Amino acid sequence: MREYPKTLKIMINELSKLPGIGKKSAERLAFHILSLTDREAENLAGSIIEAKKKLNYCSICGNITDKNPCLICSDETRDKKVICVVESPQDVAAIEKIREYDGLYHVLHGSISPAGGIGPSDINLKSLVERLRDNPDIEEVIVATNPNIEGEATAMYIARLLKPAGIKVTRIAHGIPVGGDLEYADEVTLLKAVEGRREI
Ligand SMILES: [Zn+2]
Repeated sequence: MREYPKTLKIMINELSKLPGIGKKSAERLAFHILSLTDREAENLAGSIIEAKKKLNYCSICGNITDKNPCLICSDETRDKKVICVVESPQDVAAIEKIREYDGLYHVLHGSISPAGGIGPSDINLKSLVERLRDNPDIEEVIVATNPNIEGEATAMYIARLLKPAGIKVTRIAHGIPVGGDLEYADEVTLLKAVEGRREI
């Protein structure tokens, strides 16, 4: 990158820190950004700054929101007896899209990975336990973590953690391919997975 001006090198370097973006892609994005009008570039940069300023995690469920509690937690029409546990805010969005589930959520922001050195205390689990303790009306926890090793380890951990408290813990069915990502599942597969959940 010796041949590029310093400001361009800095932009390429920042872009290459994004997930899935290698040096080549970062260069392509940087040149695309340079081809934008001033207004377009300002809109792009401004949207990042605005999002960082206004978006936060819901203090109840951990979902991404610009209101606290989030719209789902503060929606009186939703079923407060069921909590669906997911790994990421993208998973909430994926399940919301099928418009079949009307309970609440809990976002873990990760999954337990013994190999990756991520333990139960590294994800948003403690607040789930507190939430269940403070809300005795909750009857069922649906674990919708991804169907990979980490997601399964997390599901088993949650089942063992909550069962003694008499809470029904269910796991979504495996319409979703093993090793797959909930976020990328099509709506029919996701709907079938939620409908076919079983107790663990
Ligand atoms: Zn919330």
